[in-house]
Amino acid sequence: MDNVSLHQRRQAATPRGIGVMCAFFADHARNAELWDVEGRRYIDFAAGIAVLNVGHRHPRVEQAVSDQLTRFTHTAYQIVPYASYVELAERVNAAIPGKHAKKTAFFTTGAEAVENAVKIARAATGRPAVIAFGGAFHGRTLLTMALTGKVAPYKVGFGPFPGDVYHVPFPQPLQGVTAEQSLRALQQLFKTDVDPARVAALIVEPVQGEGGFNPVTPAFFRMLRELCDDHGILLIADEIQTGFGRTGKLFATEHFDVQPDLTTFAKSLAAGLPLSGVCGRAEIMDAPLPGGLGGTYAGNPLAIAAAHAVLDVMHEEQLPERGKGLGDRLRQHLEALRPKVSQIAEVRGLGAMVAVEFSDAQGKPDTAFAQHVQKASLERGLLLLTCGNHGNAIRFLFPLTIPDAHFAEALEILQCVLTA
Ligand code: PMP
Repeated sequence: MDNVSLHQRRQAATPRGIGVMCAFFADHARNAELWDVEGRRYIDFAAGIAVLNVGHRHPRVEQAVSDQLTRFTHTAYQIVPYASYVELAERVNAAIPGKHAKKTAFFTTGAEAVENAVKIARAATGRPAVIAFGGAFHGRTLLTMALTGKVAPYKVGFGPFPGDVYHVPFPQPLQGVTAEQSLRALQQLFKTDVDPARVAALIVEPVQGEGGFNPVTPAFFRMLRELCDDHGILLIADEIQTGFGRTGKLFATEHFDVQPDLTTFAKSLAAGLPLSGVCGRAEIMDAPLPGGLGGTYAGNPLAIAAAHAVLDVMHEEQLPERGKGLGDRLRQHLEALRPKVSQIAEVRGLGAMVAVEFSDAQGKPDTAFAQHVQKASLERGLLLLTCGNHGNAIRFLFPLTIPDAHFAEALEILQCVLTA
């Protein structure tokens, strides 16, 4: 099998709507390294889009999944339950900030978790509307696509969209949007578009992921909490990209003195096995009727086994702390390159969730330069992802388990590309 013929077969057999970044095909991977079918090695700073905080094939995850494989792979939890699901719910309830009673339900994809958080919020409040932010990414299903705050490519050709979804700008100082302007936009929305008494939930990523690794400020997050409390609106934290150690804490909301009513999570929870969930205040989580939540594969036992191993590894290898250290190193490296690379407009993020944004001499988003950095790094064996409303930022999603030598090798490639 070679990359060129597989690429041709892919184009003939699969639709273009499934856009694919790399022209090579994966063969095998271990921790932060990935090899293609022709034996070429890459350092993986994409990590399956923020899924592999414990790296590819962590031995503990492999062991847990293969042990489960010999017992059972599927019963449908809603038909025959299993203890590992309940135990994982208990662990997540204990890990999510807040001393109040919590309950957790598991699903399969991130979008499914967000859809269910909205269903739960609607059932608990008896209200229809949902507010999200510009630049947010919440998924590709019909409701989550409506919540996602970016038209191309996510919404083009897919309308009509579910009603009662509203967007306000997310604070992005570099793009000239302050927290005050965002809050004013919310107040304005309540005057011009939707009665706050009809709003079930406001959904926010504590650090926008696809939107550009823009963190909320503690003050802004607190003001959102107050605004929600004033109007009986539930606050949903979408931690699908920020979760499981990426920001230097297990959950990003631990950085802030704010407790959401509902939290969605997925991605790095199960190291590549499909698992997502919603955790929230017990009384809110209990609003839907029995049978109103679930799914055939929701809380699959192999994925649950992987998640238990991930939580063990996070704790034993102190990965949130290690990630913060690696994030600091990367940030310092990029800041040190600033005088030599005029396109660097900002280095930002939280913990290991770091991005660098590029602008041109006029201060306009420099998408072409971000694409060049991505392509040139890939040619040198470093897999990077872009992000941001204009695709003009590079985000770094290395496994938090990456060996120091591979991290240093990646920084070296980055430096060569940025200063070439
Ligand atoms: N929410 C956020 C914050 C995400 O980053 C993503 C995926 N990039 C999703 C939701 C959707 O997750 P999935 O692709 O698993 O449906």
